[in-house]
Amino acid sequence: MSISFSPLNPPRRLLFGPGPTMVEPRVYQAMTKPVVSHLEPYFFEVVEDCRKLLRAAFGTANEFTLAMSGTGSAGMQTAVANFVEPGSKYAVLANGFFCDRLTEMGRRQGANVARLEKPWGESFDEDEAAEFIRKERPNVVAFVQAETSTGVYQSSKTICAAAHEVGALVIADCVTSLGAMPVDLDANGIDIAYSCTQKGLSCPPGLAPVSVSPRAMDWLRGRKTTPADWYLDLKLLADYYEGAHRYHHTAPISLFYAMREGLVCIAEEGIEKRQARHKRSHEAFVAGAGAMGLEMLVKPGRRLWNLNTPRVPDGIEDLKVRKRLIEWGDVEILGGFGPLAGKVFRVGIMGPLATEENVLLLLEGLEKALREEGFSPKGNGVEAAKAYYAG
Ligand SMILES: *Cc1c(COP(=O)(O)O)cnc(C)c1O
Repeated sequence: MSISFSPLNPPRRLLFGPGPTMVEPRVYQAMTKPVVSHLEPYFFEVVEDCRKLLRAAFGTANEFTLAMSGTGSAGMQTAVANFVEPGSKYAVLANGFFCDRLTEMGRRQGANVARLEKPWGESFDEDEAAEFIRKERPNVVAFVQAETSTGVYQSSKTICAAAHEVGALVIADCVTSLGAMPVDLDANGIDIAYSCTQKGLSCPPGLAPVSVSPRAMDWLRGRKTTPADWYLDLKLLADYYEGAHRYHHTAPISLFYAMREGLVCIAEEGIEKRQARHKRSHEAFVAGAGAMGLEMLVKPGRRLWNLNTPRVPDGIEDLKVRKRLIEWGDVEILGGFGPLAGKVFRVGIMGPLATEENVLLLLEGLEKALREEGFSPKGNGVEAAKAYYAG
């Protein structure tokens, strides 16, 4: 049987969603380099570069910083499988979709779960969360630093201090914050952090950076039970990525090339400058959206810089607006889900798209699409964003 297929020709979208985000051309280039063996010394040089660059992005001196083969959820499962023992007490600060996933993973590990809950779109008052931790005295506390389902940033210094007071380790989901917003593991006191490559780092999906504090590594070395997940067992992975380089699994070589290049881009720009660029794009977008008459779901000061959640105006169907944006300029934004289905847009302005030119383009398209769906903007969003950049 002979079958012919047309050449691959994916649509060229401007990825203004929560992720995957736009990939730099030089990152694509890196992926075309020859694949070497997963035991080749050159590959371990690439891995060491990645580890160094990841420490800088995470804001940590943690020696044990590496990338798991898999997406952000593999990073989440790594954190839970290695540090949440069956029968242990596991506290989750729950205010969105990914906190629920963290909860479910803990349950599957056989932990005794305690949750402090907030409606989607709100953040935790740190003192209130600290009080909950002192009362519950868990073994592990987990929270989401950048909740992609709602656009909320969670500060954590007081939360981590309270956890340490009761002898608990702290897991933080930094999937969307890494590379775009302050993550600051060491300054906050986060013990175990995980992320992914396809959001704030602007690389293709497929790797999950993880960083573990010396304190958490000591705990792990002393753990008596064997983690149920063999593939994500950090002690086995340490034997592969460090020292002995004993075969564990075949690392996805080309994805490591891509991540290294993406991290080099970030280092060359400077992590602080990159964060500031995301902050500016966010403020310009909020100025524009506000001028049009769109309200933001999240309170000022609690918002992610790289993932904006304006409310969908009454009487407007978010899916129709999103379709118009694709037709107008291949501009892709996403909608809300769960309790926020149909209620918010999720607008990611990250990496190569976090520039004045792109923010203005996005606002122009959004205003046009909303107008065509019957919404009358209060004012001119593009002009308001231009005024923000000029001022
Ligand atoms: C995307 C995301 C995840 C899951 O990552 P995948 O790469 O989709 O597996 C986990 N947590 C948060 C906050 C995310 O945004």
